[in-house]
Amino acid sequence: MTDEHIPDILSLAEAVTQKTDWKEALDSVMVAVRSVFLFDNLALYVIENSFTDLTEIAYARAVGRGQTAGADAAWGVEIASQVIERDEMVVTVPGELLASDNRINEPFLLGLPLRTHEGLLGVLVFVRFGGPAYTEGQIQRAQFIATQFSSLFVRKKLKEEVDALENARRLLEMQEDFIATISHELRTPLGFIKGYCTTLLRQDTVWDEATRREFLQIIDEEADHLNELIENVLESARLQSNTLPMQFLPVRLDALIRDATLRSQTRYKDLNVRLNFAISPTIKADSVRLSQVLENLFSNAAKYAPGAQITVYVTQEEDSFRIRFVDNGPGIAPEYVEHLFQRFYRVPGQGGSGSGLGLFICKQIVEAHGGRISVQSAPGKGTTFKIDLPARNGLTF
Ligand code: ADP
Repeated sequence: MTDEHIPDILSLAEAVTQKTDWKEALDSVMVAVRSVFLFDNLALYVIENSFTDLTEIAYARAVGRGQTAGADAAWGVEIASQVIERDEMVVTVPGELLASDNRINEPFLLGLPLRTHEGLLGVLVFVRFGGPAYTEGQIQRAQFIATQFSSLFVRKKLKEEVDALENARRLLEMQEDFIATISHELRTPLGFIKGYCTTLLRQDTVWDEATRREFLQIIDEEADHLNELIENVLESARLQSNTLPMQFLPVRLDALIRDATLRSQTRYKDLNVRLNFAISPTIKADSVRLSQVLENLFSNAAKYAPGAQITVYVTQEEDSFRIRFVDNGPGIAPEYVEHLFQRFYRVPGQGGSGSGLGLFICKQIVEAHGGRISVQSAPGKGTTFKIDLPARNGLTF
């Protein structure tokens, strides 16, 4: 290698170390390689599983003559097998260097083993169609390039292993969280039910009618809560695994919101709701599920923004129908807002009954409709949930 090549060699090494994505790194190595070493095509074969078992083309690029040959890279398989068999570099020269009309028929191949501390991991093959033959200096450069490719591969393998470990860790953490949260959530109402039943059954005490009724009322409410919790857990699991069947039928969005509002007002007597519809589109939706989203937002407003004014707007946006569900309640601190749609997430210190599943379920349902739900909130400024349903689901009528 001459001094004039040092900057090129440096840029080659930089291309390897600076990119995080290995394919991107290979592409920039390709650009850098061309300035130190001329070739037509390059292919990179990775040894699958056992060392004798060739090979998967991991990367192939055609930059010069015979560009289509880069696509299948079949021209390199034989030399790659030889490199693996001999575990060393292989250079092949066509039998005769006669002038030929078709230079593609005269490939000069250079196969280089890619090694790591673990052994042979693949083969890098260069081809020049119709020559010239590789000089000693060029072969050295190609060897340097092969070491750069090897280190890229080691990095790729390491990254895959780290990603796989990280995924496994996250899954385990989620499962542990899920089990811990669900056991806690189920135990709380069950504890109440058991406690009040035991109290009522005590032989040594006679409860007056009013107290008996009060205890039974608590048992009744907690049983409802337990039921709701189990339903929510099952539903969120089904939604997440896509096994909850949805029935998409034409429905008037304004009528759906009105009905959900009426049902919520029957349940929460103090609910103060204004409806403000700029449009009344017919959409394709699962009306039971979509109503569930709205009723959940009403129930949250009743729990977390009691007495607040709630306004539900429906507007036409560029390519969506937008429902804005606005309350002027206490709002939520910024550090909690981004977590609201996570499974089991509840704002810390939040009283009242709840499992943190409601908004998670809302998100799954809205997304199953091809829509998006988001939230904006600030302490003292109230909370706004925004649901965008794709307008392409709208029907003309
Ligand atoms: P849950 O109501 O069971 O706790 P959700 O997923 O429905 O679970 O809601 C998550 C959290 O979001 C609630 O615990 C509450 O802290 C907060 N939240 C939801 N809606 C509102 C609202 N309208 N105003 C203030 N906080 C809210």
